[in-house]
Amino acid sequence: MRIANLSGRAHLVVDGRLVDVERASGGRLPADPMALIPALAEIGELPVPDDAPALAGAALGPPVPRPSKILAIGLNYRAHAEESGLELPTEPVVFTKLPSALVGCADDIVIPGGRTQVDWEVELVVVIGRRGRRIAEADAWSYVAGLTGGQDVSDREEQFRALRQFTMAKSFDTYAPLGPVLVTPDELANPDDVGLSCRVDGEVVQSSRTGDLIFPVAALLAWTSRICTLEPGDLIFTGTPSGVGFGRDPRRFLAPGNVVESEIEGVGSLRNVCAAGPAYA
Ligand code: ZN
Repeated sequence: MRIANLSGRAHLVVDGRLVDVERASGGRLPADPMALIPALAEIGELPVPDDAPALAGAALGPPVPRPSKILAIGLNYRAHAEESGLELPTEPVVFTKLPSALVGCADDIVIPGGRTQVDWEVELVVVIGRRGRRIAEADAWSYVAGLTGGQDVSDREEQFRALRQFTMAKSFDTYAPLGPVLVTPDELANPDDVGLSCRVDGEVVQSSRTGDLIFPVAALLAWTSRICTLEPGDLIFTGTPSGVGFGRDPRRFLAPGNVVESEIEGVGSLRNVCAAGPAYA
């Protein structure tokens, strides 16, 4: 199944068209994309109304609009750890992004005036499907509702200044594009080996597979749920592969007008244009 968020309402993708889940089920299923996440198994077949809009070109919101938390993993690809000049981690490096940073797959990334080190990070994003604590690796995929794509947009100047500020550097409004849709794991040939890539103004800057993750999805659920309860709709940004602007020589960063395209195999593409926002002191 593929689930989209159109105008804040959950839609099932059927043959390239968007079916409003609550209306098509006669009220049996919730309209709220968050409420639908733990009930995905109950969707079944839905009739496609004549006026169902096309998926192509639809102005989709983030498929998971209000997670209770977003966990994100640093340095989870070997080549990215190396380009960052850091040791390979022996256990997951975890930080958070604030849910208020979420936007849809075609929304602008708004860069405040004066910020000159804003970077791209394409990532596979895991959507939690049911509540879990101390999840065993062997059971971990049963806690996953689906997968989607994300950009962990990062202000490197903020991130690496004195004492470091990972959470705020990655939580500017609009710095978490998500989508285009939530895809259940059964739709993917191998959910542990998904291709992902990022283009900036048409040039491929990142290309890898999640089979290269140092800590794969099951290990991330097990490790994080030792400490906190994972709730339905919570997101885990699984880390970015090599090719970020900060690791290049010379360094390269995003500016208003740049177009960031992120592609997740079997999930779809995001296309986010960088726009200029007001400066802050
Ligand atoms: Zn990241």
